[in-house]
Amino acid sequence: MNVDTLREAALVISNSEYLIALTGAGISKESNIPTFRGEDGLWRTYDVMELATPSAFVRNPTLVWEWYEWRQGLISKCDPNPAHNTLVRWEERGLLKTLITQNVDGLHRRAGSTKVLEVHGDLWALKCSFCDYQGRLNKPASGIPACPLCGKHLRPDVVWFGESLDRAIMSQVYTELEKADACIVIGTSALVQPSASFPLIVKQRGGPIIEVNIEKTMLTSAVDFHLSGKAGEILPALDELLT
Ligand SMILES: [Zn+2]
Repeated sequence: MNVDTLREAALVISNSEYLIALTGAGISKESNIPTFRGEDGLWRTYDVMELATPSAFVRNPTLVWEWYEWRQGLISKCDPNPAHNTLVRWEERGLLKTLITQNVDGLHRRAGSTKVLEVHGDLWALKCSFCDYQGRLNKPASGIPACPLCGKHLRPDVVWFGESLDRAIMSQVYTELEKADACIVIGTSALVQPSASFPLIVKQRGGPIIEVNIEKTMLTSAVDFHLSGKAGEILPALDELLT
């Protein structure tokens, strides 16, 4: 890691008036959360692409809930890492205005972040498959939870394959992107749309982009600072350099 680059990036953060962060699977991976893609993309003999769909839930809600129960069990054994904790500190200091995440594991909230927009939903949140009820689990599910209002099946409030992103959340995301004057992108390969375009919206308005990733991504050529390494090491290092 080039110390001058780190220092310059820290200066951008210190001087920003409306910093936003965008996080993806990489930050969770450092907490040992499986990505459920690639080699982690199988559960029992099922392809996760076939479990995380509305039609799978209609066909076999028990199976889909067993998968989520298993994931929730794994996640509940993982802890937020120093990158999550640094983002909490930045929010508390008034430096970080919004945290936009593609992750559904809830680790940002567990770490203590409150200004979180979860574009793919939250694995611990519940919604009714029939009425408007929304709820929350505080421990892994057991069986299919029933709606307290209508008795129908509750489902995880996450965005499944083939579903649209939540309109209300997306509207908040775009409002925040319009306000941002700097953006730090952490642990995301910047491949999944529309999230991949978020930093570019900030960039178009003249805001610098800082990318923290263990490898180069599709975004790297467009960023002002590429900080190569683990988020759990780079974010605390940036924090030390803030003025
Ligand atoms: Zn209901």
